[in-house]
Amino acid sequence: LLLIAVSLVLAALLAVATGNLSIPDRLNPWAPLDIDEPPNFLTEYKLARLAGDGARCRSLLAGADLRHAPIADRDNGGGCFFKDAVQFSGTGISYGGNLILTCRMAVAMAMFERHVLQPAAQAHFQQPVVGLQHFGSYACRNVYGRKTGRLSQHAWANAIDIAAFRLRDGRIVSVAQDWQGTGAGAQFLRQTRQGACRFFKVVLSPDYNAAHRDHFHFDLARYSVCR
Ligand SMILES: [Zn+2]
Repeated sequence: LLLIAVSLVLAALLAVATGNLSIPDRLNPWAPLDIDEPPNFLTEYKLARLAGDGARCRSLLAGADLRHAPIADRDNGGGCFFKDAVQFSGTGISYGGNLILTCRMAVAMAMFERHVLQPAAQAHFQQPVVGLQHFGSYACRNVYGRKTGRLSQHAWANAIDIAAFRLRDGRIVSVAQDWQGTGAGAQFLRQTRQGACRFFKVVLSPDYNAAHRDHFHFDLARYSVCR
């Protein structure tokens, strides 16, 4: 019986892989990621797979109407480099200038905005986020900017530090000012932090340590932290 079950599963997978059986793209591990689709159990796998496929990643960005410009791969020495990166200037919301981010990070940011950030803003403030304040993305430095130790994900443009969000009515919700407390700002920030963990491998907030008291750190490292 087990053999029959295994055979059936293999046959089904083969049929999907060869295109003989059609299932929705969101449930098909071979189908490309779709930024508009709500995340599910395959999203993390599909995002990870983009790491080896720069062309597919850039086509996703183009299709999703994200403001970005290509940037050549560059080795900056000391182990710092970026590959398959873009100059990302935002989506519907303003990032206040260009950021160098790996293409995969840009895709993850777009998905985070659509599926986490804007729904949270609507839920707590009944209006969208229109701007974002950040402390940068690419930086050739070690973790916490220490003289020694391992390189930060920022050294590969694979991370972003976000300090605050600007709502349509002009209100600024900042990690430094609003994280502590019980108001709408704190609830919005906590929901945003939690939701970000569905798209980023590492999400660090003031709960993690004092170095993150005034910003969220998102990155796409190989290991997971959500705190
Ligand atoms: Zn950071």
